[in-house]
Amino acid sequence: MATCPGCALLCDDIDVIVENNRIKETRNACRRGAARMKGCFNRLAPSIAQKPVDIESAIRKAAEILKVAKSPMLFGFSNSTCEAQVKGIQLAKKLGAIIDDTSSFCQGLLIETIFQEKFRTCMLEDVRNKADVLVYWGSDAQDSEPRHLSRFSYFPRGESRQRGYEEDRIAVAIDVRESNTAKICKGHFYRIQPKGDREFILALTDALSGKVPAYEPKKILELAAILKKAEFGVIFAGIGLTYSIKEDMEILVALADKLSNFHIMPMVGHYNMRGFNENLFKETGFVNRVKFEGKAVQHSPAEVLDTPSRGVTLVHDDKYSIVEALRNESIDALLVAGSDPLSSLPRSLVRHLASIPVICIDPCVTMTSKITAVTIPCAVSGVESGGTAVRMDGKKIELSKIIESDYPTDEELLTRLMEAL
Ligand code: SF4
Repeated sequence: MATCPGCALLCDDIDVIVENNRIKETRNACRRGAARMKGCFNRLAPSIAQKPVDIESAIRKAAEILKVAKSPMLFGFSNSTCEAQVKGIQLAKKLGAIIDDTSSFCQGLLIETIFQEKFRTCMLEDVRNKADVLVYWGSDAQDSEPRHLSRFSYFPRGESRQRGYEEDRIAVAIDVRESNTAKICKGHFYRIQPKGDREFILALTDALSGKVPAYEPKKILELAAILKKAEFGVIFAGIGLTYSIKEDMEILVALADKLSNFHIMPMVGHYNMRGFNENLFKETGFVNRVKFEGKAVQHSPAEVLDTPSRGVTLVHDDKYSIVEALRNESIDALLVAGSDPLSSLPRSLVRHLASIPVICIDPCVTMTSKITAVTIPCAVSGVESGGTAVRMDGKKIELSKIIESDYPTDEELLTRLMEAL
């Protein structure tokens, strides 16, 4: 059995058929996972200024760039193993650099709130065995974690849910559009306005407190009745929800307080984003947006200053997030590992990347690798190299090495880069 690194569900029940050191076929993997396991469509080659070199020269050049940089940043690691993430954090420490990942503009704060134990959470095996009410909020699992409903939540039989989705489980979708997941939630789709999550949460909290909600009372009271009856409920919080409520996690904490039988789980896309958050949290007490300065650790949160009468005042001081660092043009070198910021950030922000040296460590050609000063290819984790990763619910999962490869692992490359410094 192998583990699929296609998303943070990290399915570890994948059968592979290998022929001539190539994965010919996968069984149990979804289409996305099968494509990921079959390897890169376009393999990255070592280069300096987009000209081919050997890996050693690329590592030496990367070290030179980082050594002279006054304000370097390390970014990514959501598609890197835990072992590589730890090395990346050590490298940032050695350089006195900023380190951040994609969670700083998606699920980071939610995950930090879970680490601070402000929410009840649970494991996916608990969901399969016990859950009777499943709420997909701002999350289209069918598209982004395609086996979520079939392996763990809606469709499987569980110890206390032997009659599965036909009689034992209710799935609810709250979203701005009728997603593929919402189509499965027969009759329990609640459409909200874009950025309308806050209003919806407040109305639901009112309904759960016995008050008549100000917003769509009929629908909200119907949903509150379903949630109240749950024996073991789970809210799968997607980026639709976290983008909408932004830094105001307290509003979600207040809703969770009204739902004593519910658990909250972040829906994570990149296979090891949660691993990065855990590793950085262990080292610094923060999940992202960190700068090392000697022995000190600086962090730049967006703070919630005030919540009078359930409104919020936010102070944005995100100078250590990639978004602000690029907007303010405050970094002079960037190392990207296991991530492709160019494909997800707006063009106005990534303009600054054209004026600074960027180093890219990845197995495959990405949009980011095409503009970088130095590219260093690594093995595909979970296919050409093993390691560990953290599933979306926090469970540590072993990745397997399935085929032989001459490419160094991401962990090995970061170790060699540190030595070259
Ligand atoms: S759901 Fe995710 S981890 Fe599972 S097979 Fe599909 S891509 Fe891979």
